[in-house]
Amino acid sequence: MNQAFLIDNRKCIGCHACSTACKAENEVPLGVHRTWVKYVEKGVFPDTRRYFQVTRCNHCAKPPCVPICPTTAMYRRDDGIVEFDSQRCIGCKACLQACPYDAIHIDPESGTAAKCHFCAHRVDAGLEPACVIVCPVHAIISGDLDEPQSEIARLLSTQTVAVRKPEQGTRPKLFYIEAEASAISPGFATQQSAQLWSEAPAWGPSDWRGPIQTAPGRMADALLRSARGSGGPQGPLLGGAPRETYNVPHRIPWHWQVPAYLVTKALGSGIFLIAAAGLALGLLPATALFTTAAPLAALLFVALTGALLVGDLDRPERFWTILTRPQWRSWLTRGAFILAAYGLLLAIVLLAKMLGQDGVAAQLRWPGVILAVLSAVYTAFLFAQAEGRDLWQSPLLSAHLLVQAVMAGAAGLLLLGLFVELPADSLPVLVWTFGLALAANLLLTVGGEFAVPHASAVASAAARMITHGRYAAHYRGSLAGGLLLPLAAIIAWPATPAVHLIASLLCLGGLLAYEWAFVFAPQQIPNS
Ligand code: SF4
Repeated sequence: MNQAFLIDNRKCIGCHACSTACKAENEVPLGVHRTWVKYVEKGVFPDTRRYFQVTRCNHCAKPPCVPICPTTAMYRRDDGIVEFDSQRCIGCKACLQACPYDAIHIDPESGTAAKCHFCAHRVDAGLEPACVIVCPVHAIISGDLDEPQSEIARLLSTQTVAVRKPEQGTRPKLFYIEAEASAISPGFATQQSAQLWSEAPAWGPSDWRGPIQTAPGRMADALLRSARGSGGPQGPLLGGAPRETYNVPHRIPWHWQVPAYLVTKALGSGIFLIAAAGLALGLLPATALFTTAAPLAALLFVALTGALLVGDLDRPERFWTILTRPQWRSWLTRGAFILAAYGLLLAIVLLAKMLGQDGVAAQLRWPGVILAVLSAVYTAFLFAQAEGRDLWQSPLLSAHLLVQAVMAGAAGLLLLGLFVELPADSLPVLVWTFGLALAANLLLTVGGEFAVPHASAVASAAARMITHGRYAAHYRGSLAGGLLLPLAAIIAWPATPAVHLIASLLCLGGLLAYEWAFVFAPQQIPNS
């Protein structure tokens, strides 16, 4: 059995009966929507036309929301329905980042993920979903794709259909007859905060997703080319700029805790990485700074990283579910275990040092280096699973995160060196490491992430928002104040403690500004 939906746009009258029935059947709270009818209008009065698009979960055959879920709360049933279990959900919002269709929201009453679940409770009782039976014109058809005589299978075999974003490779099972290009592909139509019956929420930089800040025509052209190249909607964009006149607003899933976590994690992994590798290679002396202060500082930053991660959960008290009910395909789960193992190793190193077991601490240096590297780079794989954010799919991201960790680690050790004796012969090692990491970061950021053509128009739009749009001040500030200035200062005055202090703080502030832009900009691009 393989359940699917088909929307017949030849019949839809935009009455919202389906959205209303869904609300009633599933007790969906105010302000969130499991299904909605998007309106797009085109043309110039009096020659205008309004298009409807019933929008919801696609019950993808290859759903990216499932493997990213750390607790198996999101899962695919044997009958092809993508279902969720709110009892298992910890509110991490990773599935919201993975879904390229804005199909998932956080239920404001339960603090857990929710979405269209095909009215699975009705299907199990042999009934059709509420939206199907309420539609007055039979524009919504549900059924089994594996049953050749079903209505949906017969329509799919005789009609031309389209799906949303086929280029994502998720194999959506919500099909549209006569899909309108400017409605089915977000970014084609101009978004505006004033809509048909309402004002959208006041757009803020970190909470609600606002109208996209890019040239709409360019975005539309690029998206249309990309969609056509992958079997997406065909047909010309008619005259009169298409504009959204009704859509539902979406909150940004990940907030300030995520850029902050990237900085604390870079510090936690980088400080010990440099100290342990330097000691193991004989480049750094076995003084208190590197044998005790470095693992202690790293442990504190790893603990802070964990606290930030838990703090961004909508159900933080269920955090332990990741450890007791892990879903091993999720990089959120893998990352939690890597951070836990790394923190445990740091605690053992410190305990061994306290008990005078220097040999044990020395034995743990290389395993510690490996765990520090894994802690630094695993987020690149987590972001790659977040398939709703094209800019995060960068192949350079793991290298970039590692360089950022080395840079932050060198800055952290130079700062620690202001309080714990910094041996004179180790200063050149730290200064060179810091300078080279600053230069490598500059190269990877300007010459790598933002200079090369991006894989999709959506990624390009997010990159442009960073370099020339809403986050340009963060980006340019991070380059000038967080990389160039510290690099110049450390080259000019390599042995001056005041320069170490200022350059390190500038670098860490710049890193936070960069991560802020990198985390927020892709979340501002609409997926519906
Ligand atoms: Fe539904 Fe989105 Fe998951 Fe696809 S990725 S099954 S549309 S929630």
